[in-house]
Amino acid sequence: MTMTTPPLPIYLDYAATTPVDARVAAVMQRYLTVDQLFANPASRSHMLGWQAEQAVEQARRQVADAINADPREIVWTSGATEADNLALTGFMRANRERGMHLVTSTIEHKAVIDTAKALEREGFEVTWLAPGADGRIQPAQLRAAMRDDTALVSLMAVNNELGSINDIAGLAAVAHEFGACFHTDAAQASGRIALDVVAQGIDLMSLSAHKAYGPKGVGALYVKRSPEMRIEALIHGGGHERGMRSGTLPTHQIAAMGEAFALLAQEAEAEQTRIAQLRARFLTGIAEVPGARLNSPEAEAEVVPNIVNLAFADVDGESLLMALRDVAVSTGSACNSASVDPSYVLLEVGVPRALALASLRFSFGRFTQTADIDHALTLIRHAVSGLRPR
Ligand SMILES: *Cc1c(COP(=O)(O)O)cnc(C)c1O
Repeated sequence: MTMTTPPLPIYLDYAATTPVDARVAAVMQRYLTVDQLFANPASRSHMLGWQAEQAVEQARRQVADAINADPREIVWTSGATEADNLALTGFMRANRERGMHLVTSTIEHKAVIDTAKALEREGFEVTWLAPGADGRIQPAQLRAAMRDDTALVSLMAVNNELGSINDIAGLAAVAHEFGACFHTDAAQASGRIALDVVAQGIDLMSLSAHKAYGPKGVGALYVKRSPEMRIEALIHGGGHERGMRSGTLPTHQIAAMGEAFALLAQEAEAEQTRIAQLRARFLTGIAEVPGARLNSPEAEAEVVPNIVNLAFADVDGESLLMALRDVAVSTGSACNSASVDPSYVLLEVGVPRALALASLRFSFGRFTQTADIDHALTLIRHAVSGLRPR
């Protein structure tokens, strides 16, 4: 008797998380068991501690190199959510005399939006910029919002639902013109667009490992080394990470994030070229699906190739998702999937409520093959034609 396992769904949800690259998992496994480098990297009294520390410092260099930073500018966190919290709250609290005003946008990730709302309750003032239909914030728009007491501007590099790319260098330049600092959430940007903190004028940048073929539960905040960059810790304790973030460093997670970012530095450009071809193939196929329209920006320079957000005008969104159960995709952002409200990002870029409810985010990555795209297209065509028009 032969046993057959049902085929796994086609994974087209890389913007929610990526699988850990096998090369990264191999590095991660070196720092766990008794015969390995499991020691506390903060242990100064024995060689095992120093060796673990060396692994942490090598990873710090790998992440720094991927964004043209100095290793001393990398602060390890539990992910981009914590990095966003530390950047906004830690910076605003430490720079009250500089100004109580923060500028951000209405389509940031919840890690930024909810942190900014918490700061409002603390007495800080927030200006919420609304994006254009292309999901981008224009530097001129930011200029109009800047004030004498603006201490920080926080605008994401790549939007996680639409894939729209902000002009980070242009936005940072405006912030600096008014004496403010510039933070960007780059969780969706690493490996998708070129990141260079020097060339782009970035003061604070949030990174996540699991959006870039590393493990979940680790990330980093880039903090520019300069006397004016003060950050108040949110997590108090042993004074790790130059007092900005206490807690025993998870060597295995950190070494894995280092390896993941080293791989991005080597491979991301070729990878994105390949993924752009997949996107083109997917969009050609989608053009034949009645009622399908693109929510993501159309212009190639304005969008990462790995995220395609589509509305299906003629069908009910829930039914479509059910019919597409063999394709793993997101409705809006995975972080909001517990709620049935339409995506706030889609509403903000002007997608009507009914269409927003009938929208899906397809996101591709390192292990997506042409056959996956073709199979997904067949399933989409079949699902749409099988559903009664709304
Ligand atoms: C995934 C994501 C986050 C959260 O990152 P975690 O490492 O999961 O905490 C923050 N911002 C954006 C844009 C993201 O895509």
